[in-house]
Amino acid sequence: MAAQIIDGKLVAQSIRASLTAEVMQLKAKGIEPGLAAVLVGENPASVIYVRNKRKACAEVGILSTQHDLPATTSQVELLNVIGQLNDDPKINGILVQLPLPKGIHPEAITDAISPAKDVDGLHPYNTGRLTRGDSLFAPCTPLGVIALLDHYRLPIEGRRAAVIGRSNLVGKPAALLLMHRNATITVCHSRTQGIDAICRESDIVVVAMGKAKFLTANMVKPGAVVIDVGINRLPDGSLVGDVDYGPVAGVAGWITPVPGGVGPMTIAMLLSNTVTSAKRAHGLL
Ligand code: NAP
Repeated sequence: MAAQIIDGKLVAQSIRASLTAEVMQLKAKGIEPGLAAVLVGENPASVIYVRNKRKACAEVGILSTQHDLPATTSQVELLNVIGQLNDDPKINGILVQLPLPKGIHPEAITDAISPAKDVDGLHPYNTGRLTRGDSLFAPCTPLGVIALLDHYRLPIEGRRAAVIGRSNLVGKPAALLLMHRNATITVCHSRTQGIDAICRESDIVVVAMGKAKFLTANMVKPGAVVIDVGINRLPDGSLVGDVDYGPVAGVAGWITPVPGGVGPMTIAMLLSNTVTSAKRAHGLL
């Protein structure tokens, strides 16, 4: 195997350690960052995600409040909860775990969160400002991708980068963040023709599509940086990314594993956004 491993677990741990120190300093000034996690219904994956986020908050000293609502909650009831959290000065970040039950429009909920507490970076105010290059918060997973590249000092400026996937959550903001760092971007999606050739001429490939082992070794330029955002469960229960890991690692220069690559970074960046929000709320930024 040629590629060097981009160890997201390790990088996330080091980010969490610096956040812990920073939160201690903030607490000494009487500032306690607070994150509200709202869970509607009992989707098993969502229950685990929210539990992990709460645990991570506790580890770094962030106050976390949990708002578990039944699956029968109406959109109006959920909007009322969001309204209360928007007005709560102890809360600096509001996380509404997706997906939401049928009958609740996710956009209506995202749009109701105060942009100043939108630590997931999904409010149209922040997505608009992300396009301009100065959002209050960018979405956590693409932020994590950039943090990984920076940690390993992998150059972005002037590099050609392919982003496969154009979701509002990952692909689109990843492409914007890379563009703001002066990479030259090609965004690929399900209607793109010639993805293989686009990837082969890219120095950085970010794959965020949800298709197990899509990116194969013959699509990768020797020495390229391959970032695998995908999380797919195979019929045998194992977890794989969107990259055909073993063979691609034989060609790439750097690669993220799944699990242990981008995944741990998403939570670390959520914590980081929450601390940023608390500092901003107290005029420290
Ligand atoms: P999504 O909303 O389903 O978007 C998937 C994207 O992939 C779409 O833009 C789609 O194109 C594109 N796509 C699908 N099939 C394709 C194909 N054959 N060729 C080219 N493009 C194709 O998914 P998402 O929310 O962005 O998530 C993507 C993956 O990342 C999932 O596996 C998800 O579980 C994972 N994820 C991981 C983390 C983490 O923390 N590690 C966080 C979020 C998501 P169209 O737009 O044309 O349909």
